Amino acid sequence: MRQRVKSVVTGIVQGIGFRPFVFNLARELELSGFVQNTSNGVTIEVEGESERVSMFFERIRHNRPSMAVVTSLDWESITPSGETRFQIRKSASGAERNTLISPDIAVCDECLAELFNPANRRYRYPFINCTNCGPRYTIINDIPYDRPHTSMHDFQMCPQCLDEYNDPTNRRFHAQPTACAVCGPQVRLLTADRKMRRDGDPIAETIRLIEQGAIACIKGLGGFHLAVHAENNHAIKRLRHLKHREEKPFAVMARDVEHVRKLACVSEDELKLLTSPARPIVLLTRKSADSLADQVAPRNPYLGVMLPYTPLHHLLLQHEQSAWVMTSANISDEPIAIDNDDALHRLGKIADYFLVHDLRIYERIDDSIVRSVGDNQQLVRRSRGYVPAPILMQQSMPAILACGAELKNTVCLTKGNRAFLSQHIGDLKNRESYQFYQHTINHLQRILDIHPEIIAYDMHPNYLSSRYALEQDIGIRKIPVQHHHAHIMSCMAEHHLDGPVIGLAFDGTGYGTDGNIWGGEALVVDGAKFERVAHLEYMPMPGGDLAIREPWRMALSYLYYSFGNDIFDMPSSFWNCTDEQQRRICLSMIQKNFNSPLTSSLGRLFDGVASLLRICQHASYEGQPAIMLEMIMENSEKYIPYKFEWKRKEDCYIIQLRSILNGVIQDILARQKAGTISARFHETIIHLFCELCIQLKSDTGLNRVVMSGGVFQNVCLATGLRDALEQREFTVFTQQYVPSNDGGIALGQAAIAAAIES
Ligand code: ZN
Ligand code: ZN
Ligand code: FE
Repeated sequence: MRQRVKSVVTGIVQGIGFRPFVFNLARELELSGFVQNTSNGVTIEVEGESERVSMFFERIRHNRPSMAVVTSLDWESITPSGETRFQIRKSASGAERNTLISPDIAVCDECLAELFNPANRRYRYPFINCTNCGPRYTIINDIPYDRPHTSMHDFQMCPQCLDEYNDPTNRRFHAQPTACAVCGPQVRLLTADRKMRRDGDPIAETIRLIEQGAIACIKGLGGFHLAVHAENNHAIKRLRHLKHREEKPFAVMARDVEHVRKLACVSEDELKLLTSPARPIVLLTRKSADSLADQVAPRNPYLGVMLPYTPLHHLLLQHEQSAWVMTSANISDEPIAIDNDDALHRLGKIADYFLVHDLRIYERIDDSIVRSVGDNQQLVRRSRGYVPAPILMQQSMPAILACGAELKNTVCLTKGNRAFLSQHIGDLKNRESYQFYQHTINHLQRILDIHPEIIAYDMHPNYLSSRYALEQDIGIRKIPVQHHHAHIMSCMAEHHLDGPVIGLAFDGTGYGTDGNIWGGEALVVDGAKFERVAHLEYMPMPGGDLAIREPWRMALSYLYYSFGNDIFDMPSSFWNCTDEQQRRICLSMIQKNFNSPLTSSLGRLFDGVASLLRICQHASYEGQPAIMLEMIMENSEKYIPYKFEWKRKEDCYIIQLRSILNGVIQDILARQKAGTISARFHETIIHLFCELCIQLKSDTGLNRVVMSGGVFQNVCLATGLRDALEQREFTVFTQQYVPSNDGGIALGQAAIAAAIES
C-alpha cells in the first residue's frame, strides 16, 4: 500500500549531516518526498510502499548520524501526492532561530581514514572535516549557521570543495567548515620571537622539537595548548615554573586506546567516555609502573587522559611512543589563549615554539573533564564537546540569564524547556576572565537568539557575577539566589525533580542568608523555596579567604576550639607547619574576632583535617587539601567512625565538631597512621549524614536525597554516602551531566528563577 508520512524531528539535527543522511536513506529505499530545515528542527515527508516507510523511520531511529541528538520525532499520515523524487528543500525562512548549534566534535572515522590515505586529496591535511565532525561552536559568530557566519568565511572554497558542498549525496554536503589543502587554513611553525621556521614540514618539525624537550604552544580547536613530552621531567618542571602551576596535575594526550592502557586502568565505561565524540579528558586510575615523568601529576593516583580529537592531533601523535602533556595555554588562572598574536604575546616567555594556523577561533573553550563513578559519569568541567548542547528541563521557562558564581564560573541561558549552560569561564576575579565572561554572555545571547527577561544571580554581594547582574538594565527582573539552594536545584533540574527533597550541599564557600559562609548544609528544597534544616557548627576562618589557601589556619581554628588557651601545651608536632610569629597573629585574630568570618563549610573541615595530618599546609590549587586527604586514605578494612552528635536549635540541627575533632586529635597523639585517620574521618562523615537523613526523614517524611556541591568530587565520600543512604532505602540523586562544583550553579539559579516566576 502506498503511504505518505509527515514527520517533525527536533533536537540537534542541523549542521551535522542529518539532511544528507535522510536524503540518501530515502533514495536507497526508493521513497519520494523531501527533507527541510525549519525553525523547530527538520521536517520530513516521505512517500512510498508502507513497509519501506516504516523501515525508513526505523533506520532514522537507529542509524542516524552520531552527532544528531533527537529530542522528539512525531509523525502523522497524510494524503499521498504521487511525487516521484526525493529532494532536499531550501530551508524555511526563520529556520535557524530555534535550532540548536552543535558542539565541536572529534574528527570522525571516515575523515581519519582519508587523512591517512595517500591517494586521498586531503591526505595529511590537518583541517579535514565533514558534516559528521569538526569545529562548530568555536567558529560560529552569528546565526544562521552558514559559512559567512563562521570563521571559515576567511577561506573561499576551491571548485572541488564547492562541488562536494553542493552534492546532496556527499558527506560534505553543506559542511560549513569544509576545506582542503588548496583552499583552507594552513599550519605554520614560529619561534618565540615570531620567526618562521622554514625547514621542512611544520608538523614533523614540532614532533622533533618536543622530543628534544621543547615546550610547544599548539593552536587547537578551542584555544592553544602548551605541549611537552610526558616523559621529560625537566621540560615539565620548566613548564610548571613558567606557567606558575606548582602541583596541579597535568592532563596528557595519548595516541590511542592501546597506549592509554599502558598508563592507566580503563573500564568499559571509561572507554566509552574516552572515545565519545566529545573526547573529554577522562580521570583514570594510574598504573603504578607507567613511564610518565613524576612531574605530570605529582603525588596523585589519578591521571587525566584524552585521545587526539583534531586531525592535527592525530598527525602529531601518530607515531608517538609517549604521551604528551597538553595543558591549556595560559598563565595560572587567565583564560586560554585563542588568537595567534595574543598567544605569542602572553606565552612567548613560556613556549619555545608556536604551531599556529590561520583559522580564527571565535569562542574559546577548554577541554572537558569527566570521570566514571560507579554506574554514573561525573562531569568535573563541562566545556568542549558538550557546550552548547542544552540540558532539557521539565517545563518551559521564561528567557532567563543566570550569572553563576565566582570560581569555576559558567553562565546559563534558557529558552523554552532548554537550558544552555556555557563553557567553563574560570575565576572572575581575574580581569581577563571577567572580560571573557561578558563576551560569552553576549555571544551566547546572539547565537541562541535569547533576550533575557529575568536575571538570576548569587546572593554574595561581592561576587563580580552578582555585580554584573545588578549593573544590567533596570527593566529586567533580578532574582538573588542562595548558593546552596542553587547547587541542589541544579541536580534536581537534571533529574526533573520538583521537590520537596532533602538536599545535602557540601562545598567550600557559599554566601548564606545570615551573612555567614555556608558549605556543610542540609536543606529541604521545594523548587523556589528552601529551608535550612541542619548544618555544621560555625567556626572562625582566620584571615578569611587566606584560610582557604593556607589550611593550617583552619587547623589552628579547630585546635583553639577544642583546647582553648591550653592550645599552647599541645605537643610541638602539631606546630611545625608554620612559624611561631604567624601562628600567634592568626590565633589573636580568632580570639579578637578580627577578620575571621564564620563558616559551616565541610570543605574547610576537610582542609583542617588535612593540615592536622600534615598532608597539606598550603593549597596550590583549589581543593588540593581535600584531594590529598582522600588520596592517602587506606581502605583495606571497615573503619570505626569517630563519635558525632548534633544539637537542635529552633528548627535546625547544629552538627557539633567537638567529638569528631577530638577523635582525630587522639588518633594523631596515639601515632595512628594518617591513612587510617583519613579513613576513619571519611567514615565519620558518611555515618553522620546518613544518620542525619534518617532523622530528617522522620521529621519530614521525605525519602529523596539530592547531593551536590564541590566536595562530592570526593569519590569515596560520594559513593560511600550514596551506598549508605540506599541501604537505608533512600532514593539518591547526584549530578551527571552538569558539574556538582560551582560550574553547575548557573543551571540551579535558572531553575530557581523559573520556579519563582511560575
Ligand atoms: Zn568527518
Ligand atoms: Zn578545497
Ligand atoms: Fe559551591
